[in-house]
Amino acid sequence: MKYSKILISLVLVLQMGTLFAQDLNEGIVSKVSEYNMVYPYTQKPLGYAFDALEPSIDAKTMEIHFSRHHLAYVNNLNSALEKSSESNMKLLSIFLSMSKYPMAVRNNGGGHYNHQLFFEMIAPGGANMPYGNLLAAINSTFGSVDKLKEAIFTAGKTQFGSGWAWLSVNKDGTLFVSSTPNQDNPLMDITPKQGIPVFGIDVWEHAYYLKYQNKRADYLDAVWKIVNWTELERRYNEALKALGK
Ligand code: MN
Repeated sequence: MKYSKILISLVLVLQMGTLFAQDLNEGIVSKVSEYNMVYPYTQKPLGYAFDALEPSIDAKTMEIHFSRHHLAYVNNLNSALEKSSESNMKLLSIFLSMSKYPMAVRNNGGGHYNHQLFFEMIAPGGANMPYGNLLAAINSTFGSVDKLKEAIFTAGKTQFGSGWAWLSVNKDGTLFVSSTPNQDNPLMDITPKQGIPVFGIDVWEHAYYLKYQNKRADYLDAVWKIVNWTELERRYNEALKALGK
């Protein structure tokens, strides 16, 4: 009896290992400074006015998105971890072993992290065109910036229901485009293809519905006008450095 239980446990562990094969590990990703956030989580200040992204994203949408949606993810994540013995874990460590955590941690942990990234990737003030190492990598991987936009556009438009469209770097240092449902992200061990995010677009209706209603494609087009390429270039270089590339 005892041995059969051990055998069953062993088989389960092996199956989990196959299902959640990790491409990334903490040694790599913890070199990206922002991934060392720990409980209790707080919302970084937005750093720009709610109307700074007009007309691409209207002020009311930004206000509700930041002050209500993002804040709710932060508060709910803290509540979910409050009584957990693992509350001192870095958010990054949680993502890399996401499959072991309850849904509330997955949804709100992703919700907090994804929004923090998103608001920095569309912050005004940076370059409005790709340049440098990222531009070279985009051209060699996708053929052109327009081809990359098409790939992300397709990923975002075809993501059924709520989710995110991403540009990430895989463990080999190559760029790839993917989408994730709900508040999942490419760092999580539950995603089919793991990577370090360089850019992500929120395609939840709350990100665009006030201005664009059901026209998700128009919103996706508008987001390209407010991308902060200086921030993306910084993220790309930091990811490569963490991967030792
Ligand atoms: Mn959102």
